[in-house]
Amino acid sequence: MLSGLFRSTTSKVVRSSRRAFASTEAYDHYGSHLFKGDVADKYLKAHGSSSALLDDPSWTDHSADTVAAAVLDWAADNGADTYCHWFQPMAANGVRHGLTGQVQNKMLEFDRTTNKIKWDFKGKDLVKGETDGSSFPNGGLRATHTAGGYLAVDTSSNIFLRGDTIFIPSAFVSYYGAALDEKTPLLRANEALNTQGKRLLSLLGYDVEEIVANIGLEQEIFLVPRDQYLRRPDLQMTGRTVIGKNAPRGQEMCDHYMAPPSTAQPALEAMQEMQEECWLMGIPLKTRHREVAPNQYEFAPLFGTNTTQIDQNIMVMQVIEEVAAKHGLAALLQEKPFNDVNGSGKHNNWSLGTTGGVNLLNPAQLNKASGNADSFPVIMSAIISAVAEHGDLMRMAISCPGNDFRLGACEAPPAIVSTYLGDDMTSYLEAFKDGKTGEYNPGLKTLDLGTSSVMPFNVPAEDRNRTSPFPYGGARFEFRAVGSSQNVSMVNTVLNTITAQKFKQFADAIEGGASPSAVAGEALNKSWKAIFNGDNYDEANQQMLTDRGVWRIDSGVEAINQLSADKNKTLFSEMDVMTSDECDARAVILHDHYTGTVEMEALVLVDMIQQHIIPSVKEANVPGVGDLEKAVSTLKDAVKEIHAAGSSYEQAKLARVLRLETMIDIREVCDKAEELVPADLWTLATYKELMFLD
Ligand code: ADP
Ligand code: MG
Repeated sequence: MLSGLFRSTTSKVVRSSRRAFASTEAYDHYGSHLFKGDVADKYLKAHGSSSALLDDPSWTDHSADTVAAAVLDWAADNGADTYCHWFQPMAANGVRHGLTGQVQNKMLEFDRTTNKIKWDFKGKDLVKGETDGSSFPNGGLRATHTAGGYLAVDTSSNIFLRGDTIFIPSAFVSYYGAALDEKTPLLRANEALNTQGKRLLSLLGYDVEEIVANIGLEQEIFLVPRDQYLRRPDLQMTGRTVIGKNAPRGQEMCDHYMAPPSTAQPALEAMQEMQEECWLMGIPLKTRHREVAPNQYEFAPLFGTNTTQIDQNIMVMQVIEEVAAKHGLAALLQEKPFNDVNGSGKHNNWSLGTTGGVNLLNPAQLNKASGNADSFPVIMSAIISAVAEHGDLMRMAISCPGNDFRLGACEAPPAIVSTYLGDDMTSYLEAFKDGKTGEYNPGLKTLDLGTSSVMPFNVPAEDRNRTSPFPYGGARFEFRAVGSSQNVSMVNTVLNTITAQKFKQFADAIEGGASPSAVAGEALNKSWKAIFNGDNYDEANQQMLTDRGVWRIDSGVEAINQLSADKNKTLFSEMDVMTSDECDARAVILHDHYTGTVEMEALVLVDMIQQHIIPSVKEANVPGVGDLEKAVSTLKDAVKEIHAAGSSYEQAKLARVLRLETMIDIREVCDKAEELVPADLWTLATYKELMFLD
C-alpha cells in the first residue's frame, strides 16, 4: 500500500498551454479531490459500505473506522499521506492567511522496532482532534490556564484533499463546549432555521424533510504585479494602501468593468489555474470577469449549502493568494486596497430551500410544491420583519475593518439596512397585508430592440437594484454589503437566526389560533419601513430612511457593540445559537481585531514616512519634512493612547478616530510629498505602477 505515497504527489491537472483549443482534461478531474458522491462511493464500497453512509451524521459514532479506512485508501491513491482537522478560529476576516487553523499530522506509524513506516489512520483519528487552543482569540471564554481546544468533524461539509494533505472540516470548541470558532454558531443557526422553518411550513400544510440555506458567494479581488506589491509595506502588512497619490487615471472611463482579463499581467492565466485547482476539490467556480476598478476581478461559484460554500470560499481565497504568487502577481483580498477606486465585496446570495430541491423564495416553485398560495407571502413577511427588527445585527456581521471605507461610498450600499423588493412584489405584499389573497406571479415583459436581426425577448418585469444592501432578486436575497475579506459564517449565522426567530414567532401565533395571513400581515405592517425600492446612494433618501427609524449604524465599532445588546443576547440564546457569554466574547474579539488592524496600519505608516518618504523629500529638497516628522509623533502618541484605554470597546473607538480622522489628514501630507518628489527618487510603488502596468 505504501507505494501510493511515492507516486506523483501533485495530481495536478495538466493544462494545455494557452492554445486556441483548450484542453477539457480538467473536466475529468472535477471533484476527484472531494470525498463525496462517486469518489467516496468507490472507496467506501471496498470496505463494505457506500457513500450513502455519509448522509447520516451518526457515521461518526458507528462507522468511523470504515470511513477512515476508505479515506486512507483514497489519500494513498492521490499521493497524500497527511491529514488535518481544518477549522475557522474566531476572527471576522483575514487579509493574509488568517482564516483557518490546522495542524498537519502524518497518516503513518513510525515503528521503533523495525524502524519502518506503516500507514496508520483510524476512526478515532478522523472524528476528533484535541489541540492547544491557548493562542487563539477567545474573548474570555477560556481562562488563560485552561488551554484545551477540541475539534470535531463537521459532517455537513465534505472532506477534501489538496497536495499531500486531507482536510477534515471541523468545529472548534473549548473544554466546556463554548464555540471558539466561526462555524459552530452557524451550525446551530442552521439547526434553528430547520426546526422553526419546518414547524411553520407544517402549519401551512406543507411538510418537508429538511430546510437548508443555500448561498452563492461572489468574490472580488485585486491582482497586482508582485514586484510592485513588494515595494509597498502597507499592502504587505495590512492589505491596503494607507497612502498613495491617485494615478492620473482611475475608473472614470468605465473601461475596466467586464473588459478582457489582462494577459500581460498575466491575470487570465492565473485565474484559469485558480479555477482548475478549485475544480479538483469540487469547488464549482463558474464565472470570472474583470470588475470596475483597474486590476480588479471577480469569481463566482454555483451556489450550494452554506457550510460547504463557506468552506469552499475560504479555500478559494487561499488558492487565489497562492496561485497569484506563482504567476508573479499579488492577490489583494482586503475591502479597500486603494483610495478613490472601487473596493471589493463578497455578495452573499441567500435563499432557503428544502433538501428536495424546492426554493422557498421562488414563488412559482413554492406555490406548486405547497399548494398554498399563502406560503410565499408568509415566508417573505417573516424575512422582512427579521430585517426590520434585527438590521443592527446584519450591520454587525459586515463590520470588518476594511468595510469602514466601503459602506456608503457610492460603490457599496450604505450602513442603513433596508430591503429592496421591487414594485411588483411590494404591491403584491401591500395587498396581502390588507387581506387580499392569491398567488404571487411575477410578470415578464418583452423587449423589442426594433431590429429584425434580434428577435424580441422576455425579461423579468422587475429591474435590479444595486444600491440596496439586501435586495430580493426573483428567487434569492443578495446581501451586497458584505466585505471581500470576510469569513461569512457570522453573516449567515445572523441571517438564519433572525429568520428562525420570526418563523418561531409566526408558528407560535398560528398554534395559538391566529390565521397565517393575519400573523404575517401584522408583522408586515410593523416592518414596512424597512422596504425601500429607491436609490440608497441618494443622501435625501438616506435621511428619509433614518427618520423612518430603519436601522442605521454608521460606525462598525458601534455595530459590533450590538452583540452585547439585550435584544440580541435574548435572540441568540432563545434560538440556541450563542450564549450571552459567547456574544460578549465575540464583541471583545471583533473590537480587538479592529484595534489590532488599525495599530498595524498606523505603525506601517510610521515606517513608510520615516524610511521612505522623509528620505525622498530630503533628497529631492522639497518642502514637507517638518509636517512629516510631526505626523510620526502624532501616530506614535495615538497608538500609546489606545493602549492605555480601559476596555476593548474604548480602544476600538479611539482606533476608529485615529484611522478615519488622524490618518486621513496625515495621508494628505504624504500624498502632497509624492506629488512633488521626482519619480526616480520616490521609493514606494505608486498607484500607477500598482494598477496600470499594462
Ligand atoms: P450577479 O449577482 O452579479 O448577477 P449571478 O447571477 O451570476 O451574479 O449570481 C451570483 C451568485 O448567486 C452565484 O454564485 C449564483 O450561484 C448564486 N445564486 C443564484 N441563485 C441562487 C439561489 N437561489 N440561492 C443562493 N444563491 C444563488
Ligand atoms: Mg451579485
